[in-house]
Amino acid sequence: MSQKYDLAIIGSGPGGLTSAIYAGRADLKVCVIEKMAVGGQMGITMDIANYPGFPDGVDGHALAEKMKSQVESFGAEFIMADATEIKKEQDLFVISLGDKTIEARAVIVATGSAPRKLEVEGEERLRGRGVSYCGTCDAPFFRNRKVAVVGGGDTALKEALYLSKFASEVTIIHRRDELRGEKIYRNQIDKNEKINILWNTVVTAINGEKAVESLSIKTKDEVSQLPIDGIFIFVGTTPNSQVVDKILPETNGSEIKVDTNMMTDIPGLFAVGDVRKNSYRQITTAVGEGATAAMAAEHYLS
Ligand code: NAP
Repeated sequence: MSQKYDLAIIGSGPGGLTSAIYAGRADLKVCVIEKMAVGGQMGITMDIANYPGFPDGVDGHALAEKMKSQVESFGAEFIMADATEIKKEQDLFVISLGDKTIEARAVIVATGSAPRKLEVEGEERLRGRGVSYCGTCDAPFFRNRKVAVVGGGDTALKEALYLSKFASEVTIIHRRDELRGEKIYRNQIDKNEKINILWNTVVTAINGEKAVESLSIKTKDEVSQLPIDGIFIFVGTTPNSQVVDKILPETNGSEIKVDTNMMTDIPGLFAVGDVRKNSYRQITTAVGEGATAAMAAEHYLS
């Protein structure tokens, strides 16, 4: 027989964990379903400078661990599994977890987002051999070596700054002549002697036999080769919304539409954080959305 909960939270990033703290504290029977590591993208961010209460910054993994113990102290249960589908049967949601299912009276989807691919030759073949989507995870492998960072958003700039602590040279490759990321990062990059920027440039191929050796790049109409040891790709993210494909077919692989209480068109089904439409995609906003959804879920359940 399936285990039955008041509230199932899918995903354990800052949004999911905050929902679990609020719902556990409200005495609901809560589970948090996670397929990888607790903390989501936050858990692999080395230095978070804009989370209130930490004027010297905070390590994302440490913050995730603290949130997790707070969740546990309020009684929520963690289930390590891949939630693949949600169905609604009468008043209950049935969530498929591989070879078993669980039931819940309400569900919060907090599955976050995944890095978008560049979709160029060599990217898949050399993944893990010089192609990376996570500076925090892989920067130490590139000590005193030359790396490229693709993208001009906050993630690319933040990660380029982090990589410059290890690499001998960091080249940001951006497709336009203006960065999208926050001014505070742009100012730090301007002052960092290890970082240079190639403007109006795109990567057309990643080259190398067993590991990355060079990039084919195109600036305006000129194609050239850039010798490099590693390439870090930060060209945005795609929402991990596959779990609602069947129950909310109109989502169709994009972000999940919710109202101001974070509730979808299906009563009792909520979405928070990077997976929901129009989120600011910050740790702080995910935390707020998680609290909102948990309180709205409590209201819905009562
Ligand atoms: P993003 O803001 O969407 O930026 C993606 C970057 O990649 C853009 O500069 C974009 O260029 C470029 N790009 C997209 N597709 C490309 C392609 N095919 N080839 C080359 N370049 C491509 O994504 P993000 O940086 O991951 O940030 C996502 C969200 O998280 C944002 O809301 C951001 O503010 C937030 N975030 C915040 C922080 C923080 O510290 N506050 C840290 C990380 C992320 P264009 O500029 O030309 O579009």
